[in-house]
Amino acid sequence: MSFVEAIAAKRDGETLDREQIATFVRGASDGSLPREQLAAMLMAICCNGMGSEETRWLTEEMLHSGEVWNLAADRPDVVDKHSTGGVGDTVSLILAPLLAAVGVPVAMMAGRGLGHSQGTLDKLDAVPGWDSSRDRSETLDLVEACGAAIVAQTEEVAPADRTLYALRDVTATVPSLPLIVGSIMSKKLALGAGALILDVKWGSGAFRKTVDEARELAAALRQVAVDTGVKAQALITDMNQPLGPALGTACEVREALEVLAGGGDPRLREVSLRLCREAMVLRDWAPAEADAALTRALEDDSAARAWVRMVTAHGGDPDPDVLARPASTIEVASHRVGFVASCDGEDLGRVAAEVGAGRRRVDEELAHGAGILVHARIGDRVEGGQPLATLLIGDREVDERRLVEKIRDAFVIGEGPVEPPALILGTVDDLAK
Ligand code: URA
Ligand code: CA
Repeated sequence: MSFVEAIAAKRDGETLDREQIATFVRGASDGSLPREQLAAMLMAICCNGMGSEETRWLTEEMLHSGEVWNLAADRPDVVDKHSTGGVGDTVSLILAPLLAAVGVPVAMMAGRGLGHSQGTLDKLDAVPGWDSSRDRSETLDLVEACGAAIVAQTEEVAPADRTLYALRDVTATVPSLPLIVGSIMSKKLALGAGALILDVKWGSGAFRKTVDEARELAAALRQVAVDTGVKAQALITDMNQPLGPALGTACEVREALEVLAGGGDPRLREVSLRLCREAMVLRDWAPAEADAALTRALEDDSAARAWVRMVTAHGGDPDPDVLARPASTIEVASHRVGFVASCDGEDLGRVAAEVGAGRRRVDEELAHGAGILVHARIGDRVEGGQPLATLLIGDREVDERRLVEKIRDAFVIGEGPVEPPALILGTVDDLAK
């Protein structure tokens, strides 16, 4: 049967069989199908969806298009964490050492920043000496040495995803649920932790704009995990404004250190602690005992020491004084009196990327001292002249006045009081009740 018939079947809303899905994914990874047929199939999937079995087959075929690490074969106790992406999302830098401190080992594959969101790999590059490029056995060595490995996603992992993602980008098929699930889960299953905690964001700065869309994605991601033998939980959290106050690389590392030392931003701390708790529950901890152990680790310095061990094991210098500082800073003051009604994380994320936390060309160097610190949160009352944010300027040439205006425009100041959206909506199970 030719692949045209498979495209026609999906166009007509039929269910694909495993062989058709295998042909499609092989066609993407080895070039055995022309791009117009791949693109047509992507659009047919985008329009007509996939059932849970088709979604699992797609994920598994994408997974097997590349290297499969299956860490659980050697370390069945390792936990992985994934966030669907957002701004000021410093959680991974906190969660990994914090879980290590309570004896729950972590391994994650991290990526570079895309568009308005800063990548975990870029943030770790702000730590002088940190080396993320590790193979499977080096990753297991890191888990052994410090209980937490954060390594770069290799070129060999899920190569079909690279081709399909690039095609989705130019065919308006990025938002398709089964395509998102296949893309995310093929990479998670390639690392192969036995337990996975998912942070699914909803809101203006997330790519699922409504709670229902986020819940649907969370349920679909978890279904694939559970169907493939991975313990998983998903938390739905707010991305209608940046999560933590820091947007950048070195400034986010500093913010993580504040939380690990028992202080830091309350929003960032709350989401980090809740994700750690859910990960521990997957590892059979009682929620109350998990919370008590996490609080203790933040108070008795063991989380901060776990950070030092993690950085050292990855080749980095754990001295916070070696982190890049901004060359100069500019306070962005409110022109109005009132209440913060909204704060556009995507716009702030783009400014942070422009000032140095992201790349405008693939080969551009980051300015690690650069970024934004957000001071005003949705619901806060602000006076005229009160700082909304601070622009951190690094060693990249930028148009400071334009960036300051963009930051100011990202905040909407209204007259009446505003109720901020709930930070944590709950797990997919809580929301299904
Ligand atoms: N992240 C991914 O890796 N893939 C998607 O399709 C969406 C988010
Ligand atoms: Ca290496």
